[in-house]
Amino acid sequence: MQEYDLFVIGGGSGGVRAARMAAQRGARVALAEEAALGGTCVNLGCIPKKLYSYAAHYGEAFEEAHGYGFSSEAPSFDWATLKRNRAIEIMRLNGVYEKLLAGAGVQLLRGRARLADAHTVEVAGERVRARNILVASGGAPHPPEFPGHELAISSNEMFDLEPFPRRLLVIGGGYIACEFASIFNGLGSRVTQLYRGAQVLRGFDDDVRAFVAAEMGKKGVDLRLNAQVASLQRGDGGLRARLGDGSALEVDAVLAATGRWPNAAGLGLQAAGVRLSERGAIAVDGEFRTSVPHICAIGDVIDRVQLTPVALAEAMVVVDRLFGSGGRTMDYENIPTAVFTHPNIGTVGLAEAQARERYGKLRIYRAEFKPLQHTLSGSSERTLMKLVVDDASDRVLGVHMVGSDAGEIVQGFAVALKAGATKAVFDSTIGIHPTAAEEFVTMREPVA
Ligand SMILES: Cc1cc2nc3c(=O)[nH]c(=O)nc-3n(C[C@H](O)[C@H](O)[C@H](O)COP(=O)(O)OP(=O)(O)OC[C@H]3O[C@@H](n4cnc5c(N)ncnc54)[C@H](O)[C@@H]3O)c2cc1C
Repeated sequence: MQEYDLFVIGGGSGGVRAARMAAQRGARVALAEEAALGGTCVNLGCIPKKLYSYAAHYGEAFEEAHGYGFSSEAPSFDWATLKRNRAIEIMRLNGVYEKLLAGAGVQLLRGRARLADAHTVEVAGERVRARNILVASGGAPHPPEFPGHELAISSNEMFDLEPFPRRLLVIGGGYIACEFASIFNGLGSRVTQLYRGAQVLRGFDDDVRAFVAAEMGKKGVDLRLNAQVASLQRGDGGLRARLGDGSALEVDAVLAATGRWPNAAGLGLQAAGVRLSERGAIAVDGEFRTSVPHICAIGDVIDRVQLTPVALAEAMVVVDRLFGSGGRTMDYENIPTAVFTHPNIGTVGLAEAQARERYGKLRIYRAEFKPLQHTLSGSSERTLMKLVVDDASDRVLGVHMVGSDAGEIVQGFAVALKAGATKAVFDSTIGIHPTAAEEFVTMREPVA
């Protein structure tokens, strides 16, 4: 039987990174993938979503160009072209991943892997042995529970939806729900978004949540808070959703973006002695060891922070411990993130409410304005920028933005936060003029 130093289950963000890096350090590595290489991020997440977000922005750009002197016939949008071009690009990326693995000397096994015992993995009827096993099997959409929920689709099905939904109902208030609501609204759907809570995007700064909800509303998303679907059935003209308040809604498609759960079932983990959490995630220690120390797990399947760069960083910690010098650790503080709503959110560090709990007295700097671009575009879109500062130490604890390219802008500020920058350092930084980003270094008067 073939024996490996490391067997990786799952060829997504975390698994591919770990396999490549381990092989480059001289380990004998195999990786099993049952679907397309690249996992959720490449095939059904970050990349296709961002491409569709760009598409939705083009729709707006045609309108906005009028104020700059451009005119053209009313543009038309061809959903089939977008889907085809996306599929071609994703296939290219699948190929890039395959080449990267082959180039590093990783043995790729196509098929579903499961543990036969704590050192043996079975893939497509073939058994191999491994000194170490890394589970990077990701997560999957968690469906809602109302009657008729099976008529709803998940984000997985949105990318190839046929036909284009003229009327779309989005259920959920997390970042995936908000992004798809924005994207399909921008592409021309009439979007209703229902969220059972009082505000979307739980965990983000409250100012950001309220601001982006209002901006999405201005662009046409019919966002209904404290609202939920009671049941769903097929009607004459599409799908008929009965809402909790007794009203009804007729739509062409329903996206349930109601959370993602770890993909840990059916892998033979429990039989091998690997402990799972109550939510079905693989329980790991600070170095990503499970209850069976030579079996590790990273990424969405451990249900910590479900982001690609986090899975990549966790992979590097495991590889460093197994095949490097060790000592590398995972830091979950100050993880920057973007939400590709329209307009975008970019954020790093603590939300005001979290910072108040941890630090007490704060200084809050806040700017809200019409960006220069929209003085001529005719768009009513506004930008929000906010700094959360610890009053005692002057350290900047949180940088939050809603506006064009917020993710691009906040990535740079994430370095400053990581380096422990104070407000005084921000103040002594020269702005780049004229940009929206310069506001972050020119806000002088606290608003609270
Ligand atoms: C709609 C959407 C948008 C997102 N947008 C962003 C974003 O903008 N930015 C960001 O950072 N993150 C985003 N994410 C999250 C990001 O995609 C995940 O955090 C990331 O992919 C996790 O990587 P992973 O390696 O843990 O799992 P995955 O990338 O999900 O990879 C797991 C792989 O394991 C395979 N697999 C599972 N079980 C087996 C088995 N038994 N045998 C063989 N193969 C198996 C699966 O087929 C899959 O390919 C998004 C997610 C979604 C759903």
